[in-house]
Amino acid sequence: MTYSINWDLETIFPGGSDSVQLKERMSQLEEQIANYRTTVDAWSPNSEDDAAKLGELLDLSATISQGFSQCGSFINALLSANVNDSKAKILTGDLYAKLPALQAAQTVFSKKLTEISEDDWTALVKAENLAPVAFRLSEIRRDGKELLSEAEETIINTLNLDGLNAWSQHYDTIVASIEIPFLQEDGTTIKLSAGQAFNKMMGDPDPEVRARLFDTWEKTWAEKEDLFADTLNHLDGFRLSTFKLHGVTDYLKEPLEYNRLQKATLDAMWGTIQKNKQPIVDFLTRKAQLFGKEKMEWQDQDAPIILGDMEERTYTFDEAADFILTNFRKFSPKMADFAQVAFEKSWIEAEDRPGKRPGGYCTSLPETKESRIFMTYSNSVNEVATLAHELGHAFHSSVLWELPELNRNYAMNVAETASTFAELIVADATLKEATTKEEKINLLDAKMQNAIAMFMNIHARFIFENSFYQARQKGLVSAEQITEMMTAAQKESYADGLA
Ligand SMILES: [Zn+2]
Repeated sequence: MTYSINWDLETIFPGGSDSVQLKERMSQLEEQIANYRTTVDAWSPNSEDDAAKLGELLDLSATISQGFSQCGSFINALLSANVNDSKAKILTGDLYAKLPALQAAQTVFSKKLTEISEDDWTALVKAENLAPVAFRLSEIRRDGKELLSEAEETIINTLNLDGLNAWSQHYDTIVASIEIPFLQEDGTTIKLSAGQAFNKMMGDPDPEVRARLFDTWEKTWAEKEDLFADTLNHLDGFRLSTFKLHGVTDYLKEPLEYNRLQKATLDAMWGTIQKNKQPIVDFLTRKAQLFGKEKMEWQDQDAPIILGDMEERTYTFDEAADFILTNFRKFSPKMADFAQVAFEKSWIEAEDRPGKRPGGYCTSLPETKESRIFMTYSNSVNEVATLAHELGHAFHSSVLWELPELNRNYAMNVAETASTFAELIVADATLKEATTKEEKINLLDAKMQNAIAMFMNIHARFIFENSFYQARQKGLVSAEQITEMMTAAQKESYADGLA
């Protein structure tokens, strides 16, 4: 089969960032928010028809939040596929500008839930229409108890647009401005986007190309280090100030609640990982030796191991699709059928070209019950795995469409379970097809990269964030300090396994 390497966004809203239908949906959202607000205001809790009224409010709110996701996913998709789509950037601003009104209505709603006594609440959420969402409703009620007055929350949410959100977008703008010069074999120099350079630096089979790109990469990002330091300081500073205003002193409280995780669980997880790093360090050292080096270098972590005259197996996009479909089918026909729809309906943006955002993601479109996958595909076995990974996310979303909207939200710890699982189905299958020892080593290494990412790289990021938040509580942190913190975090998390 031949599949498109570009996604189809026209079926969501035709016309890209000029879409009339998108504009219409966005103004409709405004009316729906106003209507929701009026209905929330009119509700006085502790009355006979609480269950019915709550059900009605939840329906109104679900329609709005699905509309937000639909528009937000679409606009973000436009921007990921073309970082220079300036009209899409304006649309992001237009969409976010509608948030404070919605948040104000939600604030009033959550506060009203707290007016219901514990006993009445327990009885209320047993109502037939509320029981399926009782858990999530109780979380909203719990969070409602910590809210400030509606006016204060509205001020924070409004300033958020030019605060937290703005700094987050500013980060994307800086990344989009990054151009990494790369000297090609024919003597010409091309400019790579951050995403292209990253893929090449971590994946090129030539160690010399990787090392050269790593140097240029470090230099290019360092040129903008003060811009990144400002961004990070204000992102986290804004969060810390918001926590403080709500009387929250522990910066982990919110992320833990969001992940429905206890601090003790988190500590037990990292503690266990910390104690069991040695096999991975040994693995990295052995891999470095195969590259003729003593210790693992940063840019070699994900590099393919090519022994003897082995030629790395590559997959065209169509071959990858067929391979994924065949192997998903062995596990679950339902999952394979789903993935087939994703390929056939062009839900995947895979083309390798400049002007795209780095990385990969899967985003859902609740109004059409679809997903879209974003990545840059260049035929390597790792990218087959990434494709399977994102399809795992999309499949996860698809099985949730039948749940009430309120129950469809999940944090990253749950999300990555579905995707990693899908990825491993494919990794195991490629391994089974290996015909030589060299090929097997190559593929086993590719499979190990997941564990290394989770136990070492993600751990480094956690250690870094933790140190950064601690320092940021005391004041601004300089670019130099940030760099030192990251180096220290990587040393700790990789148990000194890196050169
Ligand atoms: Zn993922």
